[in-house]
This record gives sequence, structure tokens and C-alpha cells, in this order.
Amino acid sequence: LVSREVKPDDSIVRVGNLNIGGAGIHVIAGPCSVESHEQIVSTAHAVKKAGATMLRGGAFKPRTSPYEFQGLKGDGLALLAEARKETGLMVTTEVKDTATLAAVAEHTDILQVGARNMQNFSLLEAVGETRKPVLLKRGISATIKELLMAAEYIVARGNTQVILCERGIRTFENMTRNTLDLNAIPMLKSLTHLPVFVDPSHGIGVRKAVPAMMRAAIAAGADGIIVEVHPDPPRAKSDGFQSLDFAEFEKAMGEVSAIAHAM
Ligand code: PEP
Ligand code: MN
Repeated sequence: LVSREVKPDDSIVRVGNLNIGGAGIHVIAGPCSVESHEQIVSTAHAVKKAGATMLRGGAFKPRTSPYEFQGLKGDGLALLAEARKETGLMVTTEVKDTATLAAVAEHTDILQVGARNMQNFSLLEAVGETRKPVLLKRGISATIKELLMAAEYIVARGNTQVILCERGIRTFENMTRNTLDLNAIPMLKSLTHLPVFVDPSHGIGVRKAVPAMMRAAIAAGADGIIVEVHPDPPRAKSDGFQSLDFAEFEKAMGEVSAIAHAM
């Protein structure tokens, strides 16, 4: 169902009044985790001013260690909804499991399925039963084919509103957090009609290097970017080492839109 052979023209995913896929690019920006009202609302205003059309922020966080910050959970969803109301930005947050799906779906415009859950088939099926747009992230060690098959699980249940997201894969390289697989962008664009996003933050995991990967993603043909932005990255409760501050984000957005316009 997700193959271009079945449907040659680009699919457009409707999020509020945004059209994702086809022509133009969209940027989702915001903190790794929602931390406070002040943090999420100030970030929402800053990223909107710089040109982002959607806000990200984790409420239910799938952390590698059980002793790390696990997110504000339901309170985080409520704060995201406030930021949405104040700025009009569309909102995305991760749905970590089927138990919290209904609550997450109620408060967000896009359901983010995280890398660690890419092959959580019961979650994919449950998300496929909803009619909410989904941002499906590539698993840490998943092939392009496996990502497409995970999308197939969602679309097969009737939810065609799926955006794929390359977010870096695990390789032998350990200078960076992951290896952003730029190869996946043109491959996915030719294999499927679904929109393709890139997460340069998790993809490289090095703050100073994130803008270069944002530019590369758009130059390689991505339909959009999801990037971590925090008012004070060194003080972030998660992923501060890969989060841009407001000034860095604004500068990167200028470069990205110049590339997008030149294409
Ligand atoms: C995130 O977006 O903060 C996140 C946890 O991403 P991933 O699932 O790609 O690791
Ligand atoms: Mn993160």
C-alpha cells in the first residue's frame, strides 16, 4: 500500500490546514521533553517566529535508563495543548504505548511513534485504527524495508496519514550518537509515496553539527525536518547536547529555506 508502484503520485498528509508532502517543506521544532509552561511556550513562540509550523515535545519519554527523566506525562500533554492554543502551532508528541494512546491522541495533532517502537506491532495496529496523522521514526537498527513494512502495518488498518522519519541508525562509528542515513531520503522518495522527514538532532547527536545535517536533509529531498530546540540547552532535562538554542535555530532556518527555495 505504501509503494510508489501502487500509487505513483506523492501522498499529502493533512495536519490542521498544513499540507505535508508534495511541494514545499515543513519544520517541526521544540524540546526533546516538555519541562514547564515557560519552557514550552517560550520555545513555541521562538520556533514559530523562525518559521516552524509544528511544535514537538516529549511527554511520555522512552529513556534508555529507567533512572533518567521520564517526562511530565499527562501534565506534559496539557502544557503542549496550552502552547498550541497560544501559538496556533500544530503539535506532535510521542505515543509510547497502547495504554496512553487515547490520551495522547486527544491532545496532539500528530502521533509520533519512536525509533524504539518501530516494530511494536500492537502499537502500530492501534495507531492504524486511529485517523490521526502519524510520524513513524526509523528503528535504531532497522532497514529501509523494515521501516516501509512498519508503515504498511499502519496503512493496512486504514490510517493512510503516515510520515516516515529517518533519525539515524547505529553503526560502528562512535564519534556521533548515530549515523544519519542520508541515503534513505532518495531511496524512500523513490520507493514510497509517503512524505519523508529527517531528524538531524538524534541523527548526529552533536549540537554544533545539527544545522549542517538540516541543510543536507533538505538538499537530499526531504519533505521536512523534526529538530530539537531548547531555550537553554545545557540545562535541558534530556538531549541538551543535541538541542539548538533559539539563535542557532533561527540561523539554521534561514539556510534551510534558502536551500528549499533553490530546489
Ligand atoms: C525523540 O524524538 O525525542 C526521540 C526519543 O526520538 P527517537 O525515537 O528517534 O529516539
Ligand atoms: Mn530527544
